[in-house]
Amino acid sequence: MTKLNVTHKKPSRLLTPASGFLKGYSHSLNPYIGCSFACSYCYVRQMPVNLFREGEWGTWVEVKEESAEMLRKELTREKKKQNVRIFMSSSTDPYQPAEARERITRMLLRVLTEDPPDFLLIQTRSPLVLRDIDLIKKLENRVRVSVSMETDEESVRKAITPQAPPISGRLKAIQILQQHNIPVQIAVSPLLPHSPRFPALLGEIGERVVVDDYFLGDGSGGRRTKKLKIPELYHKHGYGEWYSPECLSHFLKQLEKQVKKSRIFISQEGFLP
Ligand code: SF4
Repeated sequence: MTKLNVTHKKPSRLLTPASGFLKGYSHSLNPYIGCSFACSYCYVRQMPVNLFREGEWGTWVEVKEESAEMLRKELTREKKKQNVRIFMSSSTDPYQPAEARERITRMLLRVLTEDPPDFLLIQTRSPLVLRDIDLIKKLENRVRVSVSMETDEESVRKAITPQAPPISGRLKAIQILQQHNIPVQIAVSPLLPHSPRFPALLGEIGERVVVDDYFLGDGSGGRRTKKLKIPELYHKHGYGEWYSPECLSHFLKQLEKQVKKSRIFISQEGFLP
């Protein structure tokens, strides 16, 4: 694995006005630029933030230092103007490995508990989120933790997102968040090849589930995903037949037998505040 290049920089702003897929949110909040989970399908690979950088996506991370005071000021200002609903994070994982040492997300969360926004969605695939349960709990019903779990097959996880946390750790994290009465959802986003047992597993967990695929969720009807050569990656691993919009409809039929329909959300609607 290439050594991670970690740099530090004071950002010019933290709360970015939200639009597009983040409809319903006033702002996105990214504690880092870059993400060492390096998911093969990550749409941020094709955004200017990556295209104009040296080094492959996943090999560099820029830490937004001196962020807490900046967020405090921006939050006060924005709350005077509008309802503040924050999506953390849209183009990084706030609990990627660098966070264990840098603790930027934790500092930002602390500010958010002192002056709570109307809503905060924490989007992650990392069990490191458990470290911050003490702070997340303070936000009570103003927060939801969305944990990505795109498959139940560890072999698929290793083939498509080899640097992301193992599925068992995410399952455990979901259970612990539940035990602390923290609102949780499982983001099967994008739906990856999986075992026939996956819908039943989601039913056993009993949380709200958001399901998405490359064709609905990449913001371009699947074109971005093609550019990322995901079809080729699927063929290389023998998953060719899984690269189809029909997989989502089949999965939803199975899921509805296991999870109440009112707890199933599709694509963007599942991420709404
Ligand atoms: S965790 Fe999210 S931001 Fe990070 S590489 Fe994966 S999809 Fe991209």
